[in-house]
Amino acid sequence: MKNKVLKRFLQVSVEMVGEALPRLPIAWRNMLFKCRLCGEKCCGLNPEVSEEDVERIRRIIPSFKPYVAPEGKLILVGENGFCPFLRNGLCTIHEYKPVLCRLYPFYPVEKKTIQSVLSLPVDVEIVRHGSKQYVFIFDEQCPGVGEGDPVDFKKLLETFLKAGFPPGSF
Ligand code: SF4
Repeated sequence: MKNKVLKRFLQVSVEMVGEALPRLPIAWRNMLFKCRLCGEKCCGLNPEVSEEDVERIRRIIPSFKPYVAPEGKLILVGENGFCPFLRNGLCTIHEYKPVLCRLYPFYPVEKKTIQSVLSLPVDVEIVRHGSKQYVFIFDEQCPGVGEGDPVDFKKLLETFLKAGFPPGSF
């Protein structure tokens, strides 16, 4: 169920953010993460992809076409709902993968948006960018959460913002 919620969340829209926020945990300072390369959770999501993502993937797979949702969002989806680039549990386009796959299991949300639906824990990680402040929700079902090194949330936010998703998306 949680995975379904996150899956829907990754196909971001303001309304969906409002629905998903109360159900997802918020990242804290010095939180640890190390990808186990298991493909268990992230590769079953259907993230929105940017035009840049599509161009990057087409460098190695020229025939790649994302699904175009009725509202115009570009979505990465394969048969059975899993990623079309997953082979034997591993990502085959690792260097070229979409930005939201790079961010997983974390996703930035503007602090004021999340504060409007729930109260923030005292040790929440807050990242500033210009006049805005962001916090990160995450998928606690990812087995890499809590392992490895502290997450560089500032870098994650820069990666996300550089991807050029519409401001209304987050
Ligand atoms: S550890 Fe998490 S991010 Fe890494 S492959 Fe597994 S589910 Fe995906």
